[in-house]
Amino acid sequence: MPEAVALLTPVSIAGAAYIVAALLFIMSLAGLSRHDTAKAGVNYGIAGMAIALVATVWATFAGVWGSPQASVGFGLLVVAVLVGAAIGLWRARLVAMTGMPELIALLHSFVGLAAVLVGWNGALEETGMTGALLDIHHAEVFIGVFIGAVTFTGSIVAFLKLSARMSSAPLMLPGKNVLNLGALVAFVALTVWYVIDPALWLLVVVTTLALLLGWHLVASIGGGDMPVVISMLNSYSGWAAAAAGFLLNNDLLIVTGALVGSSGAYLSYIMCKAMNRSFISVIAGGFGIAAPASSGEVEGEVREILAEDAAELLRDASTVIITPGYGMAVAQAQYPVAELTSRLREHGVEVRFGIHPVAGRLPGHMNVLLAEAKVPYDIVEEMDEINDDFADTTVVLVIGANDTVNPAAAEDPGSPIAGMPVLRVWEASNVIVFKRSMSAGYAGVANPLFYRDNAQMLFGDAKQRVEDILRAI
Ligand code: NDP
Repeated sequence: MPEAVALLTPVSIAGAAYIVAALLFIMSLAGLSRHDTAKAGVNYGIAGMAIALVATVWATFAGVWGSPQASVGFGLLVVAVLVGAAIGLWRARLVAMTGMPELIALLHSFVGLAAVLVGWNGALEETGMTGALLDIHHAEVFIGVFIGAVTFTGSIVAFLKLSARMSSAPLMLPGKNVLNLGALVAFVALTVWYVIDPALWLLVVVTTLALLLGWHLVASIGGGDMPVVISMLNSYSGWAAAAAGFLLNNDLLIVTGALVGSSGAYLSYIMCKAMNRSFISVIAGGFGIAAPASSGEVEGEVREILAEDAAELLRDASTVIITPGYGMAVAQAQYPVAELTSRLREHGVEVRFGIHPVAGRLPGHMNVLLAEAKVPYDIVEEMDEINDDFADTTVVLVIGANDTVNPAAAEDPGSPIAGMPVLRVWEASNVIVFKRSMSAGYAGVANPLFYRDNAQMLFGDAKQRVEDILRAI
């Protein structure tokens, strides 16, 4: 019995807590994969994180409790957590739904920075290791710093692009693929060198190289491919956390990092498939993607429609499909859109929604907004389910969507978004486009839909225009 008690050290108890936390994280991922279990998934994640934090803090201080170093360390930790939590709460409360992707990109950059700092700390501290163990430690330091630094600057560029502080057009440096490949080869060679001779200047070189590579990789990706970049950086941040876990000897960080890394990679793969892009090409910074051949300029005449006439068209329609996009989120038009839907359905009009997989600025953006406004799930359909039905539809309402309904993707092989599957709204009898101006969407590509004979523009803020239609109906 006393032996069993002796086994209950702070480290072993924390290890047991880590297994419980890891299981909760897996249950959280499973829960998040479906609408009806998503809330439970979030709760599992919160519980797992709470257990992990308490166990880590307790195990760190249990052995040295009462000593002066422990008091200073614990004091510093409490201050850091309080400051971090206050800033986190403040930002999270302020952020609009449309600003969520850039906030996530910024948070990924912190994970990358943390991995770089942990790596540098691992290089500077005395480990007491010798032989092969020390070589492995050096390799972990080098790889951790590299992944962390790529994630750090890559996420900052993603943040700048998503918040429109930097152009969303791809940076096309001459020989960009050779630059990326050269950086990877140099990284492998430097890792071997560092393991043989762990000089600090090598760590400075790899940190600089990785910071530049991260910047270049993401800057080379065009606006239309940004959704994939976000999930890819999510994956990188997971691997950066796993690398830090190896250095800190923390099993939970390794498991959690691997979960985030692999689920992020899988999400990137799914998004690449949905957008008809090569996964390898996107993670290699647009490898093999040539500069667009066509400028996408469109000429022609645009027809305008007033809200009263749109209301009449809708009243007489038998089938209506609504395709929402980023503009619906900006205008917060989901509530009047939901009301318009129920009014039209009361009139006997069949109304459905067509959701593009990358509509808005984060995966599932439109689904979240429509669920918030209590639009019934069963009339919200994915692009693949609804795309063949546009030809038999009387009226399509394009509410703040642009790239996701752009015919150039299907018809102009030289377009920057060529090959990306889009909602074929132009096949309907009438298309009404809600937007404020003739400006392009996120990918910066002009949209020939606006000049089609069956399309009419309803200019103005989407929320106000839908409310105008509601009044007219
Ligand atoms: P777009 O970004 O292509 O277009 C949105 C349109 O909404 C704009 O043309 C804008 O036109 C209009 N708009 C903005 N505010 C308002 C308003 N208040 N009222 C009415 N209209 C408004 O949107 P999509 O959803 O079609 O496409 C998403 C794009 O974002 C894709 O290129 C995708 O790759 C990219 N992306 C997606 C991510 C994701 O995970 N879903 C992440 C990152 C990028 P105007 O200014 O004239 O009003």
